[in-house]
Amino acid sequence: MTLHERWTTTLDQLRAQGRYRQFALPSGVDFTSNDYLGYAKRSHETRMDVSRSGTASRLLRGHHAIWDEVESTLASWHGAEAALMMTSGYVANEGLISTLMEPGDWVAGDELNHACIVDGLRLARCRRFNYRHNDLNHLEEGLRAEAERNEPGRQRFVLTESVFSMDGDKTPLREIANLADRYGAYLIVDEAHSTGCYGPTGAGCIDEAGIRPQVLASMHTGGKALALPGAYIVGSRLLKEYLTNKCRHLIFTTALAPAVGAWWVKELARVQSDSDSRARLHENTRLFRTELSARGIQAGGTEYVVPVIVGEDAPAVAAAMSLQKQGFDVRAIRPPSVPLGTSRLRISIHADHDPATLIRLAGAVAESLHHD
Ligand SMILES: *Cc1c(COP(=O)(O)O)cnc(C)c1O
Repeated sequence: MTLHERWTTTLDQLRAQGRYRQFALPSGVDFTSNDYLGYAKRSHETRMDVSRSGTASRLLRGHHAIWDEVESTLASWHGAEAALMMTSGYVANEGLISTLMEPGDWVAGDELNHACIVDGLRLARCRRFNYRHNDLNHLEEGLRAEAERNEPGRQRFVLTESVFSMDGDKTPLREIANLADRYGAYLIVDEAHSTGCYGPTGAGCIDEAGIRPQVLASMHTGGKALALPGAYIVGSRLLKEYLTNKCRHLIFTTALAPAVGAWWVKELARVQSDSDSRARLHENTRLFRTELSARGIQAGGTEYVVPVIVGEDAPAVAAAMSLQKQGFDVRAIRPPSVPLGTSRLRISIHADHDPATLIRLAGAVAESLHHD
C-alpha cells in the first residue's frame, strides 16, 4: 500500500463510520463553544471586529472564515496545495510526526533535531535512525540499509530542520531531498528558523532551494521571524485532510483566536514584500561574523544564529553575564538544549541591529572569553 492509499483508505473508513471531520463556519446561537462567561464576544465592544478567543476546537466552533483566508495565503506563498494552522510549532511538529508515522515505519532524523521532533517520534513509536548532524553519507548508509529490507507497507521518512536552532547552520536540503527520493523516503522539513528569512518572498529554505515538490510536509512557526502566535504545516490537500481527521494535537485543543488570524493576514502581506529587512538581516550577519573572526573568535554555523562554543557550562554562563552587564542580552545555552560539553553563547542577529552595535558586541564577546 502506498502512503497515498493508506490515507485515502483511512479517510474512506471514517466516512463509512460517520466519523469524518471537516471545518464548518459557526452559525446560529452558540451552544457549542466553551465561552462560558461570554468574554470572547467582548472584543466587539472594544472595537475589534474579531474575537479574541478561539472558544473551542477548530473542528467545533473554533473555525472562522479568517483561517481559510490565512491558510490559502500560506499555501500560495509556499507554492503548495494547502496549509493548516496549529497553535504552536511544538504542537505542530509533535502532532504531524505522531500522526503520520506508525509503528513499523522507519524515520531518519538529524541528531540535532529539535526536542518537539524527538517527542513526536516518541509518541509515534516508529523505528528511528539518528544520523550525524548534516552528514549525507551517514544518512545514505541508513537509507540504503533500510531500503534493502524492503518491507511492503512500511514507510520511510527523513526529518530535518533547514536552519538549526542552536548551531546556525543551513542543511544541504537539495542533497537530502535527492537522497530521500533515491531511496523512496518522504522528506519532512522544520522551517522554524528560516520562515520569513530566505527566498525572494521569504518563504524559507525549501522555496530558496526550489524543492517544494520533493517535500511531503514542512512545519513553520509564527513564533520566530514572523512574530505571531501560532504555527502551520504546509503540504498537499490530502495531507491536510488526513491531519484534520487524525491529528490529536489539532482536534483536541482550542483553536487560535480569530483576532490572531487578523494579525496573520496583515503580517503575511508585509513579510512577502519586505526584502529590505531580509537583506539587512543577512548583511548584519556577514558583518558580525567577519568582526568575530577578525578578533580570533571561531563561531559555528553560517547564518544569523551565531553560536560561540565555550564548552563547559560555568565559563559560558560567566561570559554571558559579562555581556549582559555591558547591556548585551546574550544568553548561555547549556545541555540538554545542546550536547554535553558544547555549552555556548547563542547570539541572534536581527535586521534592525545597527552596525556599530554589532561591532561593539564582537569586541565584547572576544573580551568575555579571554577573562577567566
Ligand atoms: C522554536 C522551534 C519549534 C517550536 O516552535 P514554537 O512555535 O515555538 O512552539 C520547533 N522547531 C524548531 C527547530 C524550533 O526552533
